[in-house]
Formats: sequence, structure tokens, C-alpha cells
Amino acid sequence: MTSRDWQADRRAVFDRDDHTCRHCGAVGDAADPTDLRTHPVGAVPLEGTVHESTLVTVCTDCLPSLSSSASADRSPPDPPASRDALFEHVRETTRTQGGAISDAASFASIATSLPTTIGDAEPSADGDTDAEPSADSDTAAEYRRIRQDVLLAVDVADAHLERLAAIDDSAFDADVGSSVEAFDADVGSSVEAFSASATDLQSTLRTVVDRAETVPVGLERCHGCFGALEDGRCSTCRLEARETTDWERESGDLALERLFSAINDELQAASTTTEDLTDRATALAAQLSDA
Ligand SMILES: [Zn+2]
Ligand SMILES: [Zn+2]
Repeated sequence: MTSRDWQADRRAVFDRDDHTCRHCGAVGDAADPTDLRTHPVGAVPLEGTVHESTLVTVCTDCLPSLSSSASADRSPPDPPASRDALFEHVRETTRTQGGAISDAASFASIATSLPTTIGDAEPSADGDTDAEPSADSDTAAEYRRIRQDVLLAVDVADAHLERLAAIDDSAFDADVGSSVEAFDADVGSSVEAFSASATDLQSTLRTVVDRAETVPVGLERCHGCFGALEDGRCSTCRLEARETTDWERESGDLALERLFSAINDELQAASTTTEDLTDRATALAAQLSDA
């Protein structure tokens, strides 16, 4: 693999994404993509060039709606400053997580079908998708795309929760003299209950992703870019292979049935948590609208 500089990588990412924001769908200017940025998803390898599989295109308008934990130089988010803003934010959080659940389900579905779709096909030595048989390279591209989608969606949902967490306790004092509108204590406990369910859901979705990523590793593929693994590391993007020992049979093969049923259990758990989340969002919305 030839190493490319950061600028070249950014162009490759924009080209791959058709100069379209992966979050909102806004199309940037291909000739002068000043309104587009790359955003890292998943674990970015510590050394070497940042591989395009770990980057997605986002527009500058969407940058503030991405998790601040993903980029160190971003300042902490502002809390919703009024009842209306809080109401809208909770609705948007629920919608974002709904999207993340459906992305997680798609990712689980492609991951669990990998043993049959790629079967015993040999990974190409340099991970260059052009050198792979086309069915395999289609699968690889789809795997990377859906993985990016789910990681981005989880990241956006994280950012929404960061904003809720930024609501200061003082915002629930009736006589707060700041620009932030006061929320009463009932709203405060409803926000807490909603955030607890939403955080729970985030962790369930991460578990789905982690487990689904175990499948390609069991097939000697990188869980990030789908390149060939060599001594526990990807030969293409240098990502360290995900640990698979929890899911191995004594023979060293993946216990696929157990892994797949664990993935399904987590998806089921996600749907149960979503019911709680919806109830809590509804309760909160009622409190916010009848005050
Ligand atoms: Zn956007
Ligand atoms: Zn890789």
C-alpha cells in the first residue's frame, strides 16, 4: 500500500461519498469542498495514514451535532436553553436513536451473512478491493458503508446525550437568573429518566456493533476496512484485530451460532429499551407542553 497524505485521503473520502454529508445528505461542491469535513468513526489506528474506511464525509452544518468526544478540540455543547428547545431536542434524540437501531440491525444482518457470502474466499494479500473477486469486493464495500453509518449514528446520538447532560442542575431552580429558562424539578427527573434509557440503549447498540465486528475477524478480515489480517493486525489500515477469544470453540473457530444468537439478544434488548425510551419521552413531552 502506498501511503497518501491527509489531503489526498480527504479527497478520496469525499469522492467515495459523492461529496455528500453522510448525516444530513447535503451535497458539497466537488470542485471546492470547503463546506465538507471528514469525521472519524470507530477506533482510528494510532500509527500510519488514517485509512478512508475510518472516515466519513460530513458538512460543516452537521459538525456541531457530532460527539465532542470524537474530536478533542471541540468545546462542550450548550444545553437546550428553553422548554421548546428541550422538547425539540428530546424528539430529535429519539429520532436519531431510532435511526441508529435500524443501522445496527442492518449491520448485524450483513455481518451474520458474511460466513456464507464470502465463505472460504481468500482475502487478497494487500487488501486492495480492485484485486478481489467482485462479489467479495461488493460485500466489503457494503460492510464498510453500513459500519460507518451505524458508528456515525451512534456518535450523533452520543452528542445529543452530551447536550442533555449539559443541562445544569441550577436550570431546575425556579429563580435561575441566567439566559437559560428554568425547568421545574419534575422535568428534571424526567430528563434524567429519559437520559438513563437513552444511555442504556447506546451501550446496547455498541455491544451489537462490537459483536457484529467479531464476525469478519473470525474470517481473517479486518473489522474496519475488511482487508486481510496479518499477525492480529490489518495489513491495509493497521487496525488491531478485535479480540475473538470469547467466541471461539476449542478448535479456534468462531462459535457462530452462539455469537449470532448473542447479537440477536442485544437487538431484542435494544427494542425493549426503545419502548421504555418512548414512554419516558412521552412523559417528558407532556410535562413540557402543559406548563
Ligand atoms: Zn450535514
Ligand atoms: Zn483494516
